[in-house]
Amino acid sequence: MTSQYRRPIPSPSPEARPFWEGAREHRLALPYCPACAQFFWFPRPFCPRCFSWEVEWRPASGRGRVYSFAIQYRAQMPGFEDELPYLTALVDLDEGPRLMTNLVEVEPDPVSVRCDMPVEVVFADINDEISLPKFRPAAGGAR
Ligand SMILES: [Zn+2]
Repeated sequence: MTSQYRRPIPSPSPEARPFWEGAREHRLALPYCPACAQFFWFPRPFCPRCFSWEVEWRPASGRGRVYSFAIQYRAQMPGFEDELPYLTALVDLDEGPRLMTNLVEVEPDPVSVRCDMPVEVVFADINDEISLPKFRPAAGGAR
């Protein structure tokens, strides 16, 4: 798989390193502000609400709902043509933050995907360092 992977590979910033370290172990972790008692996204060294620098990382459930999605029929960059069509999505995590991601294990068809659909995280191992969080329909269906 590694030798055939031709898509861009993330190179984690220092602020996002705990996210990617968690992903490598197939754990979803999110930045959290104890002062606000809320998660936030994207990773920053300070809270975007109260500007506290006392932020920490906490495990997330890996569950959420589709806020919006798009079926991609054209490769915008080299490396993406092999899996056309594929799904890009915004997922609202149960913890609050909204992630841009891919939907997998579901037909890229408007009949099969809907907004507010419950989803759960799965991880695609790209190489020894990077695993990408993606989302599939949640086991058990509607909640
Ligand atoms: Zn805060």
